[in-house]
Amino acid sequence: MRRRGWVEEYDFLVIPQPQPDELLSSWLTRTAFAHDYPLTTFISMFLKHDGSALSRIDIDFKEDPILFEKLAHKSRFPIEQIVQMSLRSEEGYLFESDHGLYPPKQIRKLKDKRTHYGLMFCPKCLAEDTHPYWRKQWRYTFNNVCSKHKIFLTDRCGKCYERIRLTKMKPSDELVYCSKCRRDLRLTVIPHVPKLHMFGLKAVTWFIDGLQNGYFDIAGSRIRSLFVFEAYTNLSRLLDRGDNLLLDEFPMLEEYKKLCRNHEEYHSRKASPIYRNFYITTMIYFLFQNYPENIQKFAQDNNLTHRDFVHGFKHISFWYQCMIDELVSMQNKIGREISESEVVGAINYLKNRGEKVTQETVAGIVGCHFTIHKQYVGIYKKTIRQQQKYYIDH
Ligand SMILES: [Zn+2]
Ligand SMILES: [Zn+2]
Repeated sequence: MRRRGWVEEYDFLVIPQPQPDELLSSWLTRTAFAHDYPLTTFISMFLKHDGSALSRIDIDFKEDPILFEKLAHKSRFPIEQIVQMSLRSEEGYLFESDHGLYPPKQIRKLKDKRTHYGLMFCPKCLAEDTHPYWRKQWRYTFNNVCSKHKIFLTDRCGKCYERIRLTKMKPSDELVYCSKCRRDLRLTVIPHVPKLHMFGLKAVTWFIDGLQNGYFDIAGSRIRSLFVFEAYTNLSRLLDRGDNLLLDEFPMLEEYKKLCRNHEEYHSRKASPIYRNFYITTMIYFLFQNYPENIQKFAQDNNLTHRDFVHGFKHISFWYQCMIDELVSMQNKIGREISESEVVGAINYLKNRGEKVTQETVAGIVGCHFTIHKQYVGIYKKTIRQQQKYYIDH
């Protein structure tokens, strides 16, 4: 009997050519299929790695120089070509290198059922490939549509809804069959991006080009792509405020709000994160248009403070810091930052003492000017409106 792992010493016998922008897991699975094995068995046999252990982790994100070297050796491709297929090759462009085990926000997790389901793909891209393969760009958080075919991406089989996992697929001539019902995934029908949403396609193309070039062109300056993608994470958190978002002139605002409302009603709608991320990406692109007006107005209308913009970064880039300093301090030049809870606290304090609650008396407690401090005025008015609404409703 042959010992399990007997081919370990041998190089790969058949080696598919890596395709442009191909994911490491895609190329490895194609190589496994060329040997007539599923991925996990192939890894155990040829790489002497525990295949099932390796398939449980995110092989495309794993930083594993020994594995890369082994793959280069066995495939006889230069190691650079192997590393290029790993998402690690986007370090310094899409995300900051920190040797972490888990993908940063810029990359879609495959295990997180709450925000995501399976590996995303465009069925039309797969259908056009001579040798269908899975792209790195399908794992980027900002990418939810295929800008070439103008359709949304999907992450599951169109027939049985099984999520896409390359590790579960069974050996076949092409890497395109559902792991559960074996349907050809190239036949998956997905909605077109409506004509009204063409602005969103522009946004995705802008991000893809920026990543490719390594820089973005913002108001005539070249900004390193890493800085923009770090800002993306911060801005998406600030933008994703559902019905409360104020973003005048954003062309898809109503659709976004409608989606948020539906999402609250139907939690089982698993495709909605794809649409939601599509809207958020488009909004971020919108903020950088007409610079600095759109982003400044966004900050003002939504009463965002300097802290809101600079909070949550591991290292904030000098570019973003300067931009926010300029945008937000212009807005509340006079006085320090004021929080909502300070204003509510001051109102309650006055009420408890039986004193009159006015814009002036509350500002007196908070310690700012009652008309010049714009941020204060915004928060005060909003709080009063909310309290009045509360009394009317109750
Ligand atoms: Zn496509
Ligand atoms: Zn299926």
